[in-house]
Amino acid sequence: MPATIADRMYNFSAGPAVLPVTVLEQIRDEMLALPGVGSSVLEISHRSKAFDEILNQTEASLRKLLSIPEGYSVLFLQGGSRLQFSMIPLNFLQDSGRPADYLITGTWGKSALAEAKKVGEARVAWDGSPDNFNAIPSSSDPSWSEDSAYVHYTSNETIQGVQFTSEPECGTSPLICDASSDFLSRPLDISRYGMIYACAQKNAGPAGVTIAIIKDELLEQGADTLPGYLLYRNHAKAKSCYNTPPTFAVYVVGLIAKWLLNEVGGLAAIEKTNGEKAAKVYGVIDQHDTFYRGHAKKDVRSKMNVTFRLPTEELETQFLSGAKTEGLTDLKGHRSVGGIRASIYNAMPVEGVDALTKFMQDFANKNS
Ligand SMILES: *Cc1c(COP(=O)(O)O)cnc(C)c1O
Repeated sequence: MPATIADRMYNFSAGPAVLPVTVLEQIRDEMLALPGVGSSVLEISHRSKAFDEILNQTEASLRKLLSIPEGYSVLFLQGGSRLQFSMIPLNFLQDSGRPADYLITGTWGKSALAEAKKVGEARVAWDGSPDNFNAIPSSSDPSWSEDSAYVHYTSNETIQGVQFTSEPECGTSPLICDASSDFLSRPLDISRYGMIYACAQKNAGPAGVTIAIIKDELLEQGADTLPGYLLYRNHAKAKSCYNTPPTFAVYVVGLIAKWLLNEVGGLAAIEKTNGEKAAKVYGVIDQHDTFYRGHAKKDVRSKMNVTFRLPTEELETQFLSGAKTEGLTDLKGHRSVGGIRASIYNAMPVEGVDALTKFMQDFANKNS
């Protein structure tokens, strides 16, 4: 018997993560043959007219959702956000004769910095590690270089659960953002960015594709001597078909973008729902604040990844197993920080959040 909605758990995984049911159903329905094509998306050439249309529509939907202005390219890349940690300095830092500034607000920013250091002069403009990454710098905190090649930051630290509410004020340097875990969760002013990128498997689709939106001026940088795949310009010139792109993943990102446009009603609408969902979970944490200890400072709490601890590790283990029997899965915090992490991305239904907060209330009442 094929699985039905009744078989689904509420999955709070940080990534790969929950996808909208209507998107999963459409994938299922088109799995034997795309309408008018006669083959599934898994079986057609990336040079075919059918895939060309999928690619164009996916890009068009993203452009519409985010109001991406003229003068920006949208690229579909592989290698995850990790490869971007290297491609960014290879294209924009190496040979620039300038430093790059990094804001370190958690594990991912730190990893991005480590890769950039291999390539050029990557500086720490602000480091949240002394406070165990529970905060975001205020506008006067970072020490910016005089003339940096770019500023890199992580809009949402997936592991620690801290999120910028707006772009850092960094002067005229191109702003580069790792938005892997909050891309498409809220409207953005793309004109503020030199580049913004996100692996899809948190909030925008399945694993396998990374979306990069890059200002065309920046594409002129990067030496032709770089390995071909690593030069952004090659991907832009070839319209993301420099090599075989991850066709299935691009197709799913296109479906997600259409879901946001047509069913959800755009990014302002999903931002509102995301705010309401996060407020419910943080509400329980605050109500039981001697039992649940939130990791992030209140003003920078992530609306995507809610991180908290319980009084003992034993209670955390009980919490996880109790949640599972209620159909609430993947709530274990990242192995590097422990505790509990509830990822409540776009596709997590309000009903899932309600089930979680009810469980949290009951568990706190029973155990505190
Ligand atoms: C998941 C994640 C990454 C790493 O993505 P990969 O696709 O595994 O390389 C980088 N940055 C952030 C903010 C993430 O959430």
